[in-house]
Amino acid sequence: MSEDKETYAPETCCHCEGLGCTYCNKTGTVMVPQPAQKCKQCGGDCCIYCGYTGWERPLKQY
Ligand SMILES: [Zn+2]
Ligand SMILES: [Zn+2]
Repeated sequence: MSEDKETYAPETCCHCEGLGCTYCNKTGTVMVPQPAQKCKQCGGDCCIYCGYTGWERPLKQY
């Protein structure tokens, strides 16, 4: 069974720049599928589409 398995890597949260905020679960980083891409909607300025992390399709970890 082969399905496209995405590789995630931690990238610095664009909202708090690594300081830790509610959007990155206070870790300062968010898991982003590689190669990491800035959010196409805001270009890294954070918006509702990127969950305010600035990254394209960040992995939500609650
Ligand atoms: Zn953050
Ligand atoms: Zn965005």
